Amino acid sequence: MGIVDAAIGPDGVPGWDHEVDVVVVGLGAAGVSAALEAHRAGAEVLVLERASGGGGASAASEGIFYLGGGTTLQRDLGVEDSPDNMYAFMRAVTTTPDDGALRLFCDQAVEHFDWLEAQGVHFERALFTGKAVAVRTGAGLLTTGNEKVWPFREVATPAPRGHQAEGSEQERGGAPAMRALLATFEREGVPALYDTGVVGLVRNSDGAVVGVHARRHGTDVWVRARGGVVLATGSFNLNAEMTAASFPTFAKYGQPLGIDTNDGAGVQLGQSVGGATRGMDGVIATASIYPPAELIKGIVVNNRGERFVPEDAYHGRLAHFVERQPDHQAFLIVDEEIFAYPEKGSHKLVDGYETVAEMEEGLGVPAGALTATLDEYNRDVADGEDHAFHKYHDWLKPLHPPFVVFDISVTSSDYHYIALGGLATDVDGRVQADDGATVDGLYAVGACAAHFPLQGSEYASGMSLGPGSWWGRRAGRHAAGRSR
Ligand SMILES: Cc1cc2nc3c(=O)[nH]c(=O)nc-3n(C[C@H](O)[C@H](O)[C@H](O)COP(=O)(O)OP(=O)(O)OC[C@H]3O[C@@H](n4cnc5c(N)ncnc54)[C@H](O)[C@@H]3O)c2cc1C
Repeated sequence: MGIVDAAIGPDGVPGWDHEVDVVVVGLGAAGVSAALEAHRAGAEVLVLERASGGGGASAASEGIFYLGGGTTLQRDLGVEDSPDNMYAFMRAVTTTPDDGALRLFCDQAVEHFDWLEAQGVHFERALFTGKAVAVRTGAGLLTTGNEKVWPFREVATPAPRGHQAEGSEQERGGAPAMRALLATFEREGVPALYDTGVVGLVRNSDGAVVGVHARRHGTDVWVRARGGVVLATGSFNLNAEMTAASFPTFAKYGQPLGIDTNDGAGVQLGQSVGGATRGMDGVIATASIYPPAELIKGIVVNNRGERFVPEDAYHGRLAHFVERQPDHQAFLIVDEEIFAYPEKGSHKLVDGYETVAEMEEGLGVPAGALTATLDEYNRDVADGEDHAFHKYHDWLKPLHPPFVVFDISVTSSDYHYIALGGLATDVDGRVQADDGATVDGLYAVGACAAHFPLQGSEYASGMSLGPGSWWGRRAGRHAAGRSR
């Protein structure tokens, strides 16, 4: 599992090749945000990026930034939201222990959106009102989470907060978003060394991080950081040992989303100087049953024939609960009226059934179980309220034979996952030790730090890029201030 070296003292450094105020490690969305803000705060910055150019997984992403509170985009599209409303939703849906950071993120999301646009990231002024995982063209704003899902719709007024950078049919929005951020970075002349992977940290006798050890084309590079080292190395998705230890089921049956260099180096660098981790078992996995949205009008049951989740839940929330069912197994049952093949997740069609009894036998669920579930569901639909799971009334319709069943089990469909855990930090991105004390001189931002949502049930698309870039800016400014 160990892919980085143990931390060493300055005495072990043969000589500094570079001395700067702030070292930023990794040039994805979080790293470029940190570097730009540190540079603009007057710090001498050096970015070290292991790949031959910037972008990271951010450039491969859909480019959705979760923001709100009344952003310019929301206002331009007539969407009502406020920082209080956004906070009420995020507080209810996530279990982050860092309430102060969550509150500040909601308070500053409006300004952060303006900042992204000022860097050249383009968000089209169009609202998508349907249910989709992502929309590449034609809409800059869509609902990407559980805002309309019970119980959250009762806690906060639902508002679309998925701010999606404009892509094209061929390209997800993350690529143009990162091109814009990197163009600004180049224009401002922030220095960077590419093909340069950080393999170890240097700390002084007080335990403060004062530099890094990197490798470039087989040569050692030692960089002294007077103000701080900002780790922005992305997730540990591609480290098979770390994912297997953290969330064994999805790691075993699913596929990681990310790029090869998302191998957990950041988390391990932090741990090498006493950094604590948070939420390492958290994972957002996805094999969405929608689109088409009509499929949400079906029901999802486990192998005991029981429903266990409102079917209109965000796809990551649904996946979270599928994983917790016996044998990680679940089925989507639809009838003729709404039948269609799910576009995502490669869910296999099990069969069509003329009667509920045949379906129970075909799926191997206890006799009578599906009859009871469907009877109760159809009674609730007639009543206009899903008393069991509170699926929103838009998606309620009675289900009648003949039925068609899709297998959506973790063990048989293609679930793709992103780790949510990482280093524990404070509101400025300073890495924290187990006792909550900060590790002086060390910051972690983006996906190598713990997210606000700590489980897939809490996530909404955009909750990595939105908070990650916001936290990057904060850490960059804080580290720049520390060097003075
Ligand atoms: C297909 C896909 C779609 C997604 N869609 C979305 C979305 O729409 N919205 C959202 O919020 N999230 C999305 N995600 C997740 C999101 O892309 C990532 O969580 C996010 O980009 C992380 O940003 P980051 O800056 O922390 O890391 P990254 O963008 O991965 O950047 C990390 C950089 O650090 C470099 N690096 C790693 N180790 C070292 C080292 N030791 N030394 C030097 N450099 C190093 C890497 O090469 C990389 O360039 C998606 C992910 C994928 C793969």
